Amino acid sequence: MTDIKSMTMEELTHTLREMGQPAFRGGQVFTWLHRGVTSFEEMSDLPRALREQLAQTFHITAPTVARKQESRLDGTVKYLWELADGNCIETVLMQYHHGNTVCISSQVGCRMGCAFCASTIAGKVRDLTPSEMLDQVLFTQLDSGREISNIVLMGIGEPLDNMDTVLRFLTLVNHPKGLNIGMRHISLSTCGVIPGIRRLAELQLQLTLSVSLHAPDSETRSRIMPVNRAYDVEELFAACHDYFQKTGRRISFEYAMIDGVNDRPEDAKELLRRLKGLPAHFNLIPLNHVEESPLKPSTRAAVAAFQKTLEDGGVTATVRRTLGGDIDASCGQLRRKEMEERKKGAAES
Ligand code: SAH
Repeated sequence: MTDIKSMTMEELTHTLREMGQPAFRGGQVFTWLHRGVTSFEEMSDLPRALREQLAQTFHITAPTVARKQESRLDGTVKYLWELADGNCIETVLMQYHHGNTVCISSQVGCRMGCAFCASTIAGKVRDLTPSEMLDQVLFTQLDSGREISNIVLMGIGEPLDNMDTVLRFLTLVNHPKGLNIGMRHISLSTCGVIPGIRRLAELQLQLTLSVSLHAPDSETRSRIMPVNRAYDVEELFAACHDYFQKTGRRISFEYAMIDGVNDRPEDAKELLRRLKGLPAHFNLIPLNHVEESPLKPSTRAAVAAFQKTLEDGGVTATVRRTLGGDIDASCGQLRRKEMEERKKGAAES
């Protein structure tokens, strides 16, 4: 059975025309799918015979809520979705003054191996499909009743390690007959997969590129981010400069502040040297403690001093406000919990 929600508007129109349907059918079906219907039966303005015919060839994906945590502090909601094959992924809904933002996953697990990240501990299980990425937006919106205006690809997985899917997802979510979320309302975060950054630059999409930098030099970065051994800091900055040249879009850098690892004043100065000529914004994130890791967050004083050095050097830097402090809101933690409990459950039965 074909996953119909992963099909673009053009593919749907073409397929339906081949089935002898009028040209407008593609748009009709596309709109129903992007409203989150879970069966062809619900597509009430389609001829009954067509609904039955579609149900024989296509299936409509729909995740179920495996767990849901709601912060009482700030309205953040974290979903653990169970997919058709039993795998679980996380989506976080956050309320900001500029609207509701959803943080979505791009893979089940991750193979990038960053030392501080919970999502990568058990490696990558598989890539998500375009429909599974879209479903996170659709079903979060439906379940919460809150309209989503912004998307960040910052959940579990490395988007540029599943790039064809991500590009297709962007086409889907951007479509006027679907959710119609503009590229300028979408951010994509990468640990630094350079061929992907270069491909994005060629496409000149208007999305915001976010680079998880976390260290100013290759020695430190390779220690905490294995991806740096393949694509090092020098090449990464070169790719960022080219990206800005091609797109004119300012790059966002994520910088998790780790006590005694990357938070010295010299580190901030080194960053300033490398950023020369590159308009950038820094998000300083005090490291979220992950049980399985010995790394600790920087002190508040170290974060403040780091921020000041960057700002004095002309680089804007904000300290990321922690949302969902009372729930397991950071990347990969809820899924790990569920996996541990399933393992325990299986061992006991
Ligand atoms: N793979 C992509 C997107 C997913 S991670 C990437 O690496 O950018 C989203 C962000 O959370 C990344 O910047 C990641 O480095 C960061 N992150 C992961 N674990 C963290 C932790 N324990 N504390 C703070 N930030 C963390």
